[in-house]
Amino acid sequence: MPPVPTPKNANFATQCIHGGIGPDPLTGAVMTPIYQTSTYAQEAPGKNKGYAYARTANPTRTALQNNLAAIEGGAFGICFSSGLAAMDNVLRLLQPGDEVLASDDLYGGSYRLLTTVFAPFGIKSRFIDMRDPAKVEQAIGKDTKMLWIETPTNPMLNIVDIAALAALAKDHGLLSVVDNTFASPYLQQPLALGADISLHSATKYLGGHSDVVMGAVVLNDEAVAKKLYFLQNAAGAIPGPQDCFLVLRGIKTLHLRVQRSCENARHIVKVLQENELVANVYYPGLANHPRHDIAKKQMRDFGAMVSFDLKEDTLEAATQVMKNAHYFTLAESLGGVESLIGHPASMTHASVPRAQRLRVGLTDSLIRLSVGVEDGEDLVRDLTQALEI
Ligand SMILES: *Cc1c(COP(=O)(O)O)cnc(C)c1O
Repeated sequence: MPPVPTPKNANFATQCIHGGIGPDPLTGAVMTPIYQTSTYAQEAPGKNKGYAYARTANPTRTALQNNLAAIEGGAFGICFSSGLAAMDNVLRLLQPGDEVLASDDLYGGSYRLLTTVFAPFGIKSRFIDMRDPAKVEQAIGKDTKMLWIETPTNPMLNIVDIAALAALAKDHGLLSVVDNTFASPYLQQPLALGADISLHSATKYLGGHSDVVMGAVVLNDEAVAKKLYFLQNAAGAIPGPQDCFLVLRGIKTLHLRVQRSCENARHIVKVLQENELVANVYYPGLANHPRHDIAKKQMRDFGAMVSFDLKEDTLEAATQVMKNAHYFTLAESLGGVESLIGHPASMTHASVPRAQRLRVGLTDSLIRLSVGVEDGEDLVRDLTQALEI
């Protein structure tokens, strides 16, 4: 199936629905069919219609990859079986002895992959505060080959200046990678800001319905894209056609879901700020967020992830709030239509030593919300009653 040209000058919502995808060339099916096949009949040995074996290529996956490229404003989209599989393949672009400079406020699984899987193969990593570009420049060493940027971060919602770091990476001949999972392509477009690779856990906003695990990267450089397509086939961490269909379907409403989630998040932030039991609210949309200006510059809206802690800073108080909530389901993950509530100190960040947690503001009572697309007033009412502890 040849790539369908991206509609020229189309805006984001149109790209979500039409970008890189067209009706099925065989039948005219408007929705991309699920090509549930592992192999394809060949006309003669080595003569086929562009598809020989489904690890190498599958039309449902091709459609999704073209759609992802279109919505992220890149030339190439490449899907993997999870967000971490996408990261794993990006890190394989490096050689033993190379170093990754990563943000010190990184998704736990990304930290684990770097320190426990890649370190024994000689890929070094260093974790630094990336909020100050001057400090990042100072940290670049002779072996540094990649900047691994995450923004907004989890769970403290710190903001890193993508354009500044991408420019630094260019000056120093480094590959810049942005984990764009928390923002989604609707809110933030790292390639347009100068980054080399935008990476997603498609499990989150792209899929959007908490029913699939997948990863993706989008980029413009053809030589790097070729290496990643090679790795996708050679290492084989591919998503299945059914999952590709689900993410294609999810992307059709990405803009609507993220818009509504952001709107709900704004209401919730306001109510949290007014609640006398709440100590701090972390949200890049707040004027007093230390990098609000950068968030405003590089994001279309401020996202639907909100963290806050309690004046009574105990695990027990936080547990009570989480128990009281009805519409916020206690669960890991984010970016689905349903609102989730979580306690980073005992869930996602349980392996981080307490002193280190406290240094970055991750207190015992810190609660993280992934705000969904339910009715905003219902969510506000639910959270308000949950805080009556
Ligand atoms: C979930 C997540 C990942 C990992 O993605 P999986 O699909 O779970 O492998 C990476 N980065 C961020 C920011 C995430 O939230």
